[in-house]
Amino acid sequence: MKLIEKLRTGKPTLSFEVFPPKTSDTYGSVLGAVRQIAGLKPNYMSVTYGAAGTTAAYTLELASEVAKLGVTPLAHLTCVCARPDTIVRQLDSFREKGIENILALRGDLPEGMSRDDLHFHYASELVHQIRDYGGFCIGGACYPETHPGSENSRTDILHLKEKVEAGCEFLTTQMFFDNDIYYNFLWRLLNQGVDVPVVAGIMPVTSATLIRRIVRISGNAVPQKFLRIVDRFKDQPEAMKQAGIAFATEQIIDLYANGVNAVHVYSMNHPDVAEAIRANLGSIL
Ligand code: FAD
Repeated sequence: MKLIEKLRTGKPTLSFEVFPPKTSDTYGSVLGAVRQIAGLKPNYMSVTYGAAGTTAAYTLELASEVAKLGVTPLAHLTCVCARPDTIVRQLDSFREKGIENILALRGDLPEGMSRDDLHFHYASELVHQIRDYGGFCIGGACYPETHPGSENSRTDILHLKEKVEAGCEFLTTQMFFDNDIYYNFLWRLLNQGVDVPVVAGIMPVTSATLIRRIVRISGNAVPQKFLRIVDRFKDQPEAMKQAGIAFATEQIIDLYANGVNAVHVYSMNHPDVAEAIRANLGSIL
């Protein structure tokens, strides 16, 4: 089923993200996690894709496994290291496996590669190619706190608009920890005439190490309320995990309460985290 149809029903949706292994020795455990998370019957599951295309085969296998388990898959696809013919081959494989939804991404330039070596510079070029190929529902990424490589938030939103005009039917946000940042972002998108569904990406932060890494990589704003949780529980892994899940649950309930229907959880191959979030939202969904 095309995701845009689910996202336009006006009903709350909950989805989870998994990422493929880099090597075959951990494939079995990742597959086990995928099966457990699919057992929670989310509205869809996304499967990430390595920027350099290194996970291409596993992304395809896991996304088709998700479909076999009766859950709609959303396969990520990056273009930074690709050429049009490799993209066509990947699209052929997705189509053969019955995968209808793609999150079209640029990816980050791997170390040692120069921008001069690239065919694709921006995700909107990939969106164009997928749209011309036909038959897929296309999504894209967006950044409520502005993409780190952007000049400023206004130009970032104008580029996002180009991506939507190229054929992107919905957007999924980078994680955020303060819902007001997301609400403000939605308002700025609408102001520029971007009115596709914007799926809210929520990351349950279950360890102090994880939050440090997130802040270092993406520069997310972290509310004082959450920093106090980290300070208090950072040396008690189980307490930290429970508090991180509770914080994410509160964020999700606030989103639904404010009329946001689509929530995507960065569950990071942790079925226990996905299960806890799903259980906390029991009657709400
Ligand atoms: P783009 O939309 O191309 O934007 C990148 C930057 O270029 C932005 O600053 C934008 O403002 C600017 N830009 C766009 N068009 C133009 C233009 N015409 N002229 C000048 N500047 C322009 N990475 C992976 O490797 N694998 C994944 O599976 C993956 N999944 C992700 C899922 C989500 C929901 C998110 C938010 C990110 C994901 N990423 C993933 C990370 C993503 O690849 C990086 O953040 C990357 O740096 C940007 O990708 P993009 O698709 O947003 O790029």
